[in-house]
Amino acid sequence: MNIALDGPSGAGKSTVAKALAKRLGIIYVDTGALYRTIGLYVKRKGIDKGDKEGVISCLPEIDLNMQFIDGEQVITLNGERVGDNIRTGEIAMYASAVSAIPEVRSFLLNTQRDIASKNSVVMDGRDIGTVILPNAEVKVFMVASPEARAKRRYLELIAKGEDCTLEGVLADIIERDKNDSTRKTAPCVPAEDAVIFDNSDYDVEGSVDKVIEIIRTKVNI
Ligand code: C5P
Repeated sequence: MNIALDGPSGAGKSTVAKALAKRLGIIYVDTGALYRTIGLYVKRKGIDKGDKEGVISCLPEIDLNMQFIDGEQVITLNGERVGDNIRTGEIAMYASAVSAIPEVRSFLLNTQRDIASKNSVVMDGRDIGTVILPNAEVKVFMVASPEARAKRRYLELIAKGEDCTLEGVLADIIERDKNDSTRKTAPCVPAEDAVIFDNSDYDVEGSVDKVIEIIRTKVNI
């Protein structure tokens, strides 16, 4: 069974997907981590995130591997585990910029399809239901207001010791939303057959229950 969980940044997809995968005993695939890893490489090389040709020229140098160890997704970049190096606000902005480049998206396509063809997965991203897994049995598009998303992301970053402000996080979210929803290749939009779920007023447990309810309307679990 493949479950596609798409939606904008900070809509709570990863938290819900992780809990959902645990409940269903299937794998959680975080596809944003793949774009973040490309962003990390580009940043380390000192290439401007808006330099499309520069980013494309990096791709042949990148050996990106995604494995699941004890159910945890582990990504290696040229043999190095990326770990939390990809979890900063700065790398999120690199990821958003590089993800608009069609060559970057094609570079990551098979990694995502392969894992879903061999396993039951909950895959979270932006274009899983529209491009990566158009035949997924269940497609959920999770949304929440920019303010609700900014607040959640802000608390997460602060807990990790990052220096940021709520206004700055909200501005980044609005910019990423714009990048992600207006880009030509694989914009972040719901698939025609996706169920849209606004979780602004739900907590994590409530969101997981709601998604399970949606899944039950599509498949027998
Ligand atoms: O989900 P996360 O915040 O880790 O994603 C980082 C960035 O990667 C997003 O802003 C988005 O631009 C991009 N992304 C994407 N397609 C995906 C997953 C993430 O374009 N499937």
